Amino acid sequence: MSNYWNPFVQKLDPYVPGEQPKDKKYVKLNTNENPYPPSPKVTAAIKEAVNDQLRLYPDPNCDELRKKIAEHFEVKPSEVFIGNGSDEVLAFSFMTFFSAENPVAFGDITYSFYKVYANLCSLSPKIIPLNDDFSLPVDAFCEPNGGVVIPNPNAPTGRGLPIDSIRRILDANSEHVVIIDEAYIDFGGESVIPLIKDYPNLLVVRTLSKYSSLAGIRVGFALGQKALIDGLNTVKNSFNSYTIDRLALAGALAAIDDDAYSKGMAQQIIATREQTIKRLENIGFTIIPSQSNFIFASHTEVNAEVIFHALRDRGVLVRYFNQPRISNYLRITIGTDEEMDKLVEALKDIL
Ligand code: PMP
Repeated sequence: MSNYWNPFVQKLDPYVPGEQPKDKKYVKLNTNENPYPPSPKVTAAIKEAVNDQLRLYPDPNCDELRKKIAEHFEVKPSEVFIGNGSDEVLAFSFMTFFSAENPVAFGDITYSFYKVYANLCSLSPKIIPLNDDFSLPVDAFCEPNGGVVIPNPNAPTGRGLPIDSIRRILDANSEHVVIIDEAYIDFGGESVIPLIKDYPNLLVVRTLSKYSSLAGIRVGFALGQKALIDGLNTVKNSFNSYTIDRLALAGALAAIDDDAYSKGMAQQIIATREQTIKRLENIGFTIIPSQSNFIFASHTEVNAEVIFHALRDRGVLVRYFNQPRISNYLRITIGTDEEMDKLVEALKDIL
């Protein structure tokens, strides 16, 4: 921190991302990346873009990609907004839809970026405690709020939320925007995209980072009725942001086209998750029901922070959050079967 910073920036509490070690020796289960590479068609499209397109600016409106996404999700191109990862889409959404007068609501155990954005936008969010089992207290989210943000499935717990609960929240908050962050929806959740036509206040945020194995090229998008998307474009154009670059555009187009590939990888990840849950339960872990590509696990006898460090010493990275209510949990990304073997082996050595 420096005195040159303005007082507002001096008080910010920025997000701390999961470790990205340079050393490849680690089994990396700490940032919910997909353990499998993207579709070969994606890699080929990006290589072609490298050869042909770098000289040219990208299309600031991403017309081709918006059309492709619209077709895939059965919405209109005017109902699609694209950003550099869903993090950027979320940041624009906070700026566009929420205000300090009427606080936006989100859970106490949720994607920690929401609080960072809320602070950056000088909002005073209403933080709603989740139930003891980390399920969402739906009634509390149905009280008057200045907007709502919910990841479905939730992060870092992995718990999914039934569509009927989301419908209730949308009905109760009809004056404000409800953002459903579906970053992990393709690992077992139920998407609310079909509700967009009925709810002018619903914004669904998606990413290609997890399901399509493209965390490295940063593509996220939002789907919602045109009036919401127009608002996001107003903010985006005020930054004169080009949205995503040509390599990301090429990769994203190919990824949406080859959805069958991503679906196959997601099925494999789900199978590995179910096996891993059983294996960890056998060695004394309690696992929150997961519909994601990660699990949230707590050991009955050994403290999570101790396990976190001991795993790291054995070359396995998982995520530990030193934060109230969840300081005895580890968030473990589902990797390949071989990676999960290494995790279980290391855990048996520790416990
Ligand atoms: N939402 C949730 C719930 C997440 O966990 C993440 C990944 N950390 C994101 C959004 C952002 O993903 P990306 O910016 O890679 O699209």
